[in-house]
Amino acid sequence: MKDCEWIVTQDPQRRVLRNASVRINDGRIEEVGRATSAAKDEVIDCRKKVLIPGLINTHTHLSMSLFRGYADDLELREWLEKKIWPLEARLTGEMCYHGALLGSLEMTRTGTTCFVDMYFHMEDVARAVNEAGLRAILSPGMIDKPEKVGTEQERQTTLKFLEYIHKLHNPLINFAVGPHAPYTCGPETLLWARDIAERENALVNIHIAETRGEQAQFEKDGKGRVAEYLDKIGFLNNRVLAAHGVWLTKSEVRLFGKKGVRVAHCPVSNMKLASGGTAPVPEMLDAGVSVGLGTDGAASNNGLDMFDTMKMTALVHKNSRWDPTVMNAQQVLDMATLGGARCIGREKDLGSVEVGKQADIVLLDLRDPNLIPIHQKETVVSDLVYSANGQNVDTTIVDGRPLMINRKLKALDPEKIGEEVRSSIARLIPQ
Ligand SMILES: [Zn+2]
Repeated sequence: MKDCEWIVTQDPQRRVLRNASVRINDGRIEEVGRATSAAKDEVIDCRKKVLIPGLINTHTHLSMSLFRGYADDLELREWLEKKIWPLEARLTGEMCYHGALLGSLEMTRTGTTCFVDMYFHMEDVARAVNEAGLRAILSPGMIDKPEKVGTEQERQTTLKFLEYIHKLHNPLINFAVGPHAPYTCGPETLLWARDIAERENALVNIHIAETRGEQAQFEKDGKGRVAEYLDKIGFLNNRVLAAHGVWLTKSEVRLFGKKGVRVAHCPVSNMKLASGGTAPVPEMLDAGVSVGLGTDGAASNNGLDMFDTMKMTALVHKNSRWDPTVMNAQQVLDMATLGGARCIGREKDLGSVEVGKQADIVLLDLRDPNLIPIHQKETVVSDLVYSANGQNVDTTIVDGRPLMINRKLKALDPEKIGEEVRSSIARLIPQ
């Protein structure tokens, strides 16, 4: 990747390089800086481009892209019970496949190279992600059912999916256990998830302390604070990736730090569903908690653009603390790259442009009007967080493989995906 105007390396010194190149070999970054090229190399011209590490979205429900714009301006409980759950009950694997392709298309288009997902029909989601060429950690969402047999079925679905992932033999796609939340899964399911994760060396992907209502219900049921309860039953450890973590006390934040629990911060979804308050992310970072950013599903966002989420992250914390110095651009970009990599235990391989790391790389086009001007080296990172959006991305590379170059998609066909999503919706929601 030759003659980048800027490279935002995200290396330990957070260097931003000017007029530099990156050489990729066999899926890995081989040289950064004055990279040489041989005659046989495929060269991507990066003049007037900024090169950054691929963004990592730590919390998604990819197939919910089908529900984008379907039920806006509603409270979480009503949104779920009246709108989302009735539709989900009618979803087929094929619909989830098309929804996942649409989500993959949006992520490729907007510079996300790796993500963590939870949903149903996950084999169909894995099939879509496999076609798209993205890096992912996928978990079938588990919910306790009124009858024991139903709960057992959920576990079997998870185990079957684990086997499917083994057989897929795609090193870019990994498995996680996905108990949905402490209010939908009892201690038995939570501890079962913990044990499977231990056995499989996998993550536990779960929603924790998303809303005030969840905390209030816990107190009503005599279970106290959500995070403290999870610790009491022996659930919390460094395999847990907790989405949201909005309703945490300072001592619960410290508990997360002590136990190594990681957090997927999803500010857009939290604001849209008015979860109330703002996740205590500055305190999490002080307590040594690994924090990544997530969009959540497109039904509560309404997109998967991580640039949008980066900007919102910076703004929501500044606004809620009355302090524009809180959550600066570098901290936010860190969360979207290295923080995300730490959340999934892959910081040695992902999250920065350094020799030896996997070649997950994104280019933004500096000829786009919203990226003009870039004043100096010191402003490139803040330009990425405050001025850029996903539509400025013109090249996306995962594991050294281009999924999009100069806005031309290599693996996915946007026309076809659009058609298939529209026809899935026509079957799901008859007019
Ligand atoms: Zn979620």
